[in-house]
Amino acid sequence: MPMPSDVPHYAIALGANRVGLHGGPSATLAAALAEIGGVIIASPVAVTAPVGPSIRRFANQVAIIASDEAPPVLLSRLKAIEAAFGRRRGQRWGARVIDLDIILWSQGAWASPGLTVPHAAFRDRMFVLGPLAAVAPDWRDPVTGLCIRHLRARRARHLPLMPC
Ligand code: AMP
Repeated sequence: MPMPSDVPHYAIALGANRVGLHGGPSATLAAALAEIGGVIIASPVAVTAPVGPSIRRFANQVAIIASDEAPPVLLSRLKAIEAAFGRRRGQRWGARVIDLDIILWSQGAWASPGLTVPHAAFRDRMFVLGPLAAVAPDWRDPVTGLCIRHLRARRARHLPLMPC
């Protein structure tokens, strides 16, 4: 699906792995999307094995949202939503109600204290690349010059992420 080039937009990764106020992980993701708003398209929910010592499975999803907020403004809104959903700070790998990350921004790259866009780790995470490729396969990563379908294919084959 072509992205609306005239409307600023973001790719947001959502992850959930425990029961919260809104129910199980899939219901939590749906409630978070409704809270974030501006959703243009959302990937199917992917259920993946947990990374680290957490015992629960993760539900992951990527959504493209229309937003003219600057990246730090959007990040603080996402953090407020995480807090409202009951995420506990300081639990890097523990069970959390919802984790919201900014992956890509239509306006390019951004770096400020505490915020890097594109997200510094997304190219290593199949649980982001898979859902992202389902909704924005042709989006070009401004850092590597690779589009998402190629990033995903290379990561799946453990190939280095050099531009073609
Ligand atoms: P985590 O607990 O792994 O989700 O990390 C959250 C922290 O990473 C936030 O407090 C942000 O300050 C920082 N961060 C840096 N870049 C990003 C990004 N692109 N999206 C979300 N958080 C980010």
